[in-house]
Amino acid sequence: MDEDQKKEQEQARERARRYYHRHKEKMQAQNNAWKEANKEKVKQYRKAQYEADKQKEIQAAMEWKAAHRDDVNAGARKYQALHREEIQPKRAVYRAAHREELSARQRDYNAAHSEARKQYNKESRQKMKLEVLQHYSNLDIPCCACCGESIIEFLCIDHLNGNGNVHRKEIGSSHGRNMYRWLKQNNFPPGFQVLCWNCNTAKGLYGQCPHQREK
Ligand SMILES: [Zn+2]
Ligand SMILES: [Zn+2]
Repeated sequence: MDEDQKKEQEQARERARRYYHRHKEKMQAQNNAWKEANKEKVKQYRKAQYEADKQKEIQAAMEWKAAHRDDVNAGARKYQALHREEIQPKRAVYRAAHREELSARQRDYNAAHSEARKQYNKESRQKMKLEVLQHYSNLDIPCCACCGESIIEFLCIDHLNGNGNVHRKEIGSSHGRNMYRWLKQNNFPPGFQVLCWNCNTAKGLYGQCPHQREK
């Protein structure tokens, strides 16, 4: 917009101001008459305006909170610490009044998250087992050192010198569950190999797997 246009706009505004001033009463009367005749419209408009403003305010507050989450949490903690004596009795009253609702919510939360936790634990155990077996097999697809079985559910870790029971007791491993973690945490010490349950059990029972006798 150049200077002339600006000037023109300013002059037009000034003319409108003066016109309004001169005809103030007439214009106000016109305005009021229109409003009176369109009451419902005015009401709707105000309502819509109010709702829009409210939504905008809520949105802005949410955005601010999200951007300042740490501050908000720290602020809440500080407030709670300062007003503990006031808050605690109120909280106790609230808890007592909403006992069932609160414990139902807690139950739902636990149920929803215990499944996820179980799943996560299962997956990380499987991952650790694979990693340990891969190391002691020296192969990407681990297999039994005796018979070559490679289905992972059939595989386990064998103590080469046969003191597995003592060792498992030492590290508190029932059914070898913590064995994989122990081996990983101890940087895969020597003295272990991968066997399948068959070969491992046979070795334990007879001192040697029958597969080895055939060879
Ligand atoms: Zn085997
Ligand atoms: Zn065997």
